Amino acid sequence: MPVTNEYDVVIVGAGPAGTACALALRHSGLRVALIDKARFPRDKICGDAIPSPTLKHLARLDPTYSTQLRALLAAHQAPTTHSRLLAPSGEELRINWHNPAFNSPRLHFDAALLTLVRQHTATTVLEDYAIRSVRTDAEGVTLVPTRTSQPPLRAALVIGCDGAHSVVARALSPHVPLDRAYHCAAVRAYYKGVADAPENTSDFYFLRAYRAGYCWVFPVGGGVYNVGFGVLSEEITARRLNLKQELSELLATHPHLAPRFAGAVALSSITGFGLPLGGSARPVHGPRLLLCGDAAALIDPLQGHGIDKAVQSGILAAAQVGRCFNAQRFDAEYLADYARQVSQHISRELAQRYRLMRFLAGKAWVVNLVVRAARWPWLRRQLIRAIG
Ligand SMILES: Cc1cc2nc3c(=O)[nH]c(=O)nc-3n(C[C@H](O)[C@H](O)[C@H](O)COP(=O)(O)OP(=O)(O)OC[C@H]3O[C@@H](n4cnc5c(N)ncnc54)[C@H](O)[C@@H]3O)c2cc1C
Repeated sequence: MPVTNEYDVVIVGAGPAGTACALALRHSGLRVALIDKARFPRDKICGDAIPSPTLKHLARLDPTYSTQLRALLAAHQAPTTHSRLLAPSGEELRINWHNPAFNSPRLHFDAALLTLVRQHTATTVLEDYAIRSVRTDAEGVTLVPTRTSQPPLRAALVIGCDGAHSVVARALSPHVPLDRAYHCAAVRAYYKGVADAPENTSDFYFLRAYRAGYCWVFPVGGGVYNVGFGVLSEEITARRLNLKQELSELLATHPHLAPRFAGAVALSSITGFGLPLGGSARPVHGPRLLLCGDAAALIDPLQGHGIDKAVQSGILAAAQVGRCFNAQRFDAEYLADYARQVSQHISRELAQRYRLMRFLAGKAWVVNLVVRAARWPWLRRQLIRAIG
């Protein structure tokens, strides 16, 4: 058995949550390891829309992070200034965004974040290092890798940033079944040759046939489009939906989508992944453990966006790490402060958005009404504030 490697903090998962946490720990003086089962650049099934708060959170840590990130992504992004929302009635609403946002394939976006970690921090980055199990005892946490040739890792504190199928979250709550009312599944594929597709405009299609969810067409630069479809898992199970089939059929038959995709070429197969939605009371901490991003179920239930909340929670976790080492306290009671911070800054708002999503579910007429009413400037501003 290889000798165990010791750190003060191990961050499991080098997506937006894990990299943000590592960046925020840059001046901590702690021995930090950031590990991931993948080798970067790695793909992540996503809509590739980078919500505008993402860069704001990073810039607050250090303004150079956001400028360097944009520079690293110069060849792999589509700045988005507009959205088109298509109501089930077929009526369209155009929105002009004031906050700069962009889309960027996660293959490049996440690799750029990891580049920042390597450039700005002394973090030990371990790629191709999958964790199988997490064991906590009175003195620390042991992370057991899947591959027996790799040494186990030992840390005083572990930050679970390992996404929707988090091994760290499972160690915290081993027997909690998937709650399909707070979970969404979505599929996506890349296309080129899409018609009527301005490179600065993200399209959202709300569909009468599905209670909660939408189809999207997002430009990601270079004439390529991320095209996807997501639905609440509750509905997928109840109706035994096959989302890959549903998306293919939508692109072939939907009166607005079919003409746009008649000459389009698929650049990838349609692949899917889960979205743990915010708004539930899932625990985000335990003795010596903190969860961030998807591992903590912090995805916006209304839009399905989670990159910004992943970054924000990673930064909140880093602040908690600092408090823990100052006080030399790693027990659940002390770590509950992190849960309070997440609740105050993230979860309360997500719970409200969850209620709004449930209210709108199955009410195509309300969505039609909202899109129609948004012709009036005041209502349009309220709508933009709600979804922006
Ligand atoms: C189809 C789809 C579309 C989406 N569209 C958008 C969108 O347009 N905009 C948006 O903001 N959000 C979107 N989301 C949500 C977004 O992808 C997530 O919220 C975001 O990736 C969360 O970041 P994270 O760092 O928490 O987790 P992840 O990005 O999932 O990163 C987790 C990391 O942990 C690693 N890992 C996992 N298990 C282990 C293990 N056992 N050992 C070691 N490493 C491990 C993985 O390799 C991965 O690199 C979408 C999600 C889906 C599924």
